[in-house]
Parts: sequence; structure tokens; C-alpha cells
Amino acid sequence: MLMKELDIINERLKQLAFTKTQPFCYGCYAEAPKGTCKTCGSDDLMRLLPGVGCEYGTDWVVTNLIEENLTPVNSEEAFEESIRQCYPETVHVGWLELDTVTTIKEMDPISWDLAQSEWLSNEEAEGLIVTFDNGNSHYYLSDIESYLNGAESESQVGA
Ligand SMILES: [Zn+2]
Repeated sequence: MLMKELDIINERLKQLAFTKTQPFCYGCYAEAPKGTCKTCGSDDLMRLLPGVGCEYGTDWVVTNLIEENLTPVNSEEAFEESIRQCYPETVHVGWLELDTVTTIKEMDPISWDLAQSEWLSNEEAEGLIVTFDNGNSHYYLSDIESYLNGAESESQVGA
């Protein structure tokens, strides 16, 4: 069910990438809005994203739209927040009262990093966050959805 949801999001992103770009003949270096170049007759066309560039396919357009319009998840901050919600704020060591998160980080940074990447893949498996660059950066699915909702109604008004 989650994969299906992600498929729908990807499909909507692809559609948006088409809306935001123009077919472009690289050989003639001209736009070909009809889907065939009127100069050379080629239908082997790139997509042109005004102000950015041209390239084959739409994946790069999707990546660009996401990067330009959305803020990636600050995974360090988000993970820390989730840990703070799971555990008491402080721990007692002898007579010391220490901040739980700071203590874990300082006592076992490797374990902290491991837990963070596990948490991240969990969030991904649950469909809360997605990556478009093999895990270098992540975005909240809810952010992508609201961006899509806005951008889609905008392009309908413009049409
Ligand atoms: Zn051409």
C-alpha cells in the first residue's frame, strides 16, 4: 500500500516535470512544443527547464524541482527529537544528572550513528520520508504532497 502511495507521488512529480518543461531539439537548439522538431523533424527530444538547462528524461527535472522548492529533512535534528521523546530528558550517574542525548552521543558515538541510520531507514520504510539521491538527502512525503498540491493547482490556473 505504501509503495503504491509512493508510485502515485512519483507519477505526479513526473507529470509536474512535464508541465514545467518544454520539448527541446538539441540538434537545432530550439524548442519543439509540438513534440516533433519543426526544423529537422526529429522526435528525439530533450526537456528544457527554463533558467536551468536541457537534458533527456524527466528525472533530473524532478530532482531540480524538489531541491529548489523543498527543505530536506535535518536527520540529525529529527532523530535527536525522536530520542528525546522516547527517553527521560536526563539520566543519573552517581550523583550527576546528565542530559540523556548528550550522554549517549559522548559515551558511544558509533552506537548513536548506527541508531540514527536505522531510524532513518525505518522512516523511509514507513513511507514518511523519501530520498531521490540514494539516501544522501531525504524529504518528508507530506512536504512533497503539499508542494505538489500547490504546484498542480498553479499550473491548472496558468493553463
Ligand atoms: Zn531539430
